[in-house]
Amino acid sequence: MMKTKMIKKFIFMMAIACVATSGIAQDKLASMAPVDKKMRTIDSLSIVHLLQHEEVAQAPASALYPEWNNVYTTHYGVEIPEEYKIDLRGFHMPADSRLVTSHFGYRKTFHRNHYGTDIKVYVGDTIRAAFSGKIRIVAYEGKGYGRYVIIRHSNGLETLYGHMSKQLVKEDQMVKAGEPIGLGGNTGRSTGAHLHFETRFLGQFINPEKLFNFEMQDVKADYYVYRSNGSGSLMNATGVLAASETEDEVVEDKVEESRNFQQQRIAAQKAKPRTRIHKVQKGESLSSIAKKYKTSVSELCRLNGITQKSTLRVGQILKHS
Ligand SMILES: [Zn+2]
Repeated sequence: MMKTKMIKKFIFMMAIACVATSGIAQDKLASMAPVDKKMRTIDSLSIVHLLQHEEVAQAPASALYPEWNNVYTTHYGVEIPEEYKIDLRGFHMPADSRLVTSHFGYRKTFHRNHYGTDIKVYVGDTIRAAFSGKIRIVAYEGKGYGRYVIIRHSNGLETLYGHMSKQLVKEDQMVKAGEPIGLGGNTGRSTGAHLHFETRFLGQFINPEKLFNFEMQDVKADYYVYRSNGSGSLMNATGVLAASETEDEVVEDKVEESRNFQQQRIAAQKAKPRTRIHKVQKGESLSSIAKKYKTSVSELCRLNGITQKSTLRVGQILKHS
């Protein structure tokens, strides 16, 4: 009790020393009220200050994001600034691997957009937080991200880590850049273990490779200036525009991409044996064909879009796997 009072008195004296710029102000303060009352004022002031700090820590980038929830992966109705400088310093690679297996963008093979960068990892590899922040979502999506984690960072970014085998963090937990958040895996819509890594700004997807060089395991610049019209650019700490995507890089990117699609196609073919066909012979029935290929009549019907009552023609081509 005595000790607390002494500390309080010390803080009070220090505060006076800082606040009062003249002897007059000090005198005025000293004569204003009994010591206890003054102390309480100082205390409540420091509490307000502490709470403000706490708020910053508890809701990263609260100036950009009006709310904090553990439910929605996307952000509806948030105001997106025309331009915003995202501080990339303090970045930590989400995985040790330098190998990008699939880029951000449209995937011809799947006729859909890929909103992240795929990094080769093995089941059980440590996945780490890219920046310090607060865990917003820890969830499972069987037909999509699998076991995934979303972190909100104070630089305004949110990062997503998908297809993990295990999540090592809880929602609302604060994490430091580089802290393990999960283990690599192959959960959800994924063929082969990899990390699906997304960077988003107010729910808008940014190609992670615009910000980070996974091969070099580094950021591309100190800052990324996000622009709502899509013309984001890199900037270094001195405010000079860092070397951005040059023509060469774009061309190289396309080569990489097609090489990547090729690899994906090969992988997909390996994973799924090529569809095999059977030419219907005289005297054959669905059940005899099913028996021949160790499959079922219903599977044959499903594969060929026919029913069990359909009549087979000699020479008809049937898929059997
Ligand atoms: Zn992916």
